[in-house]
Amino acid sequence: MLTPALENDLKAAIRTIPDYPKPGIMFRDITTLLGNPRAFRRAVDELVQPWAGAKIDKVAGIEARGFIIGGAVAHQLSAGFVPIRKKGKLPHKSVRIAYSLEYGIDEMEMHEDAVARGERVILVDDLIATGGTAEGAVKLLRQMGAEVAAAVFMVDLPDLGGAHKLRAMNVPVRTLVAFEGH
Ligand code: AMP
Repeated sequence: MLTPALENDLKAAIRTIPDYPKPGIMFRDITTLLGNPRAFRRAVDELVQPWAGAKIDKVAGIEARGFIIGGAVAHQLSAGFVPIRKKGKLPHKSVRIAYSLEYGIDEMEMHEDAVARGERVILVDDLIATGGTAEGAVKLLRQMGAEVAAAVFMVDLPDLGGAHKLRAMNVPVRTLVAFEGH
């Protein structure tokens, strides 16, 4: 758990843009947090804190904001980094999975040799909403034999149930701040 003061500081560092990208959505823009040296460092330190000293082989980041946070998390844990990308972007032989979005489905990919069987992986993205994206990434990693040690996010939208969905898949979840609603 974060102290209330730290949670407030991190929350205040995130900008909210109403009705983006469409009416009714409150877009939680973490670029302001990333641009704030102190907040960025504290957020990454807090995300990795339970795994400091643990054996984590890889950090998998979800395109695109998960790459930024995931790179910092991987560095902090002395782990490798694995990009999980939208389909058609990776140059080498890849594995692909369909996942559900709020409206419709999309596909994500990972290089087939990016994780080895039995490796312990932490999944990273900026925000978890319905959990459809993270669920797809967990399935992809497990399909390749990885052990998903945890999934970590700066922001949780608990009303949308994504963190709950991941925990029901036996994935420990860590989030730093929560916002009500969509
Ligand atoms: P979901 O699959 O529903 O959990 O959606 C998570 C993905 O969509 C993440 O990669 C987020 O960056 C993005 N996302 C969903 N809702 C929001 C929101 N309200 N503000 C910012 N990003 C969002």
